[in-house]
Amino acid sequence: MAAEEIWTIKAALDFSVGFLSKYGDEHPRLSSEWLLADATGLSRVEVYTNFDKPLSSEEKAQLREGLKRRVQGEPLQYVSGETAFRHIIVKAEPGVLIPRPETEMLVEYALEELKEYSNGAQELLALEVGVGSGCISCSLADELDNVKIIATDISPEAIALASRNRDALSFEDRIRLVETNMADSVQAELEGALDLLISNPPYIPSQYMKALPKEVSLFEPHLALDGGPDGLDIFRELKELGLKLLKPGGIFACELHEEKLEAAKELIDSQYNEVKILEDLVGRPRFIFARRP
Ligand code: GLN
Repeated sequence: MAAEEIWTIKAALDFSVGFLSKYGDEHPRLSSEWLLADATGLSRVEVYTNFDKPLSSEEKAQLREGLKRRVQGEPLQYVSGETAFRHIIVKAEPGVLIPRPETEMLVEYALEELKEYSNGAQELLALEVGVGSGCISCSLADELDNVKIIATDISPEAIALASRNRDALSFEDRIRLVETNMADSVQAELEGALDLLISNPPYIPSQYMKALPKEVSLFEPHLALDGGPDGLDIFRELKELGLKLLKPGGIFACELHEEKLEAAKELIDSQYNEVKILEDLVGRPRFIFARRP
């Protein structure tokens, strides 16, 4: 396409949908909307109400770059730079795990448990281990006014992105981000203080790492995915952490691999009360919840 050619939003959208379909994108229209929104600074709805607006040459260049990255198999969320998670928009960037729909359910169940656990009045304290993009902590803060969260990650890229997401949502005084392994640098101050310990740890059993879709294995951080031989390496550390840091009756909430929930339950059945396995959106076992005795 010649540089001087005028390209309206409508023409750019039609072109992008056709281009991405040809290259096998499973959701060419959705991808095009996100890429076009990213290139123009418009919302996805505004894309549809500004069909006649011409793209500037910078916008055209950015759209072309996005289309190129997408057809090379890079996840849409990295290319467009953001994704929707529950009621918020979360920035996504290479180096940090992209929020998954099942994790929205982890937050849903945690909110339900917290409502049952508290009378709504007192201030609640939560720890999230492995904050990644910040989607879990930011959603908790967004949907529950009386919770404060300390969120850790060993990855500096994750802490940087989670900070940007937190700041964009103005949760600076509700979420404290700490770069550390597990809870190492905050453990001493949190003993017996937590109402909730929540985590979506790396949990793919190592032997399954090779079988991940290319879109995941080539682009997303293996640090956030590989859970060791049985997928429960970090889970084992988390359950011990919960016993030290949760208040009596405090909530332990963790997402895990669908084949590992029974094994996880066996590991904590004698240590925790009310251990239960919950299912994700497609009915697979996905989460384990329990209460500290
Ligand atoms: N659910 C993610 C996936 O299937 C795994 C996330 C994780 O290991 N925490 O890619």
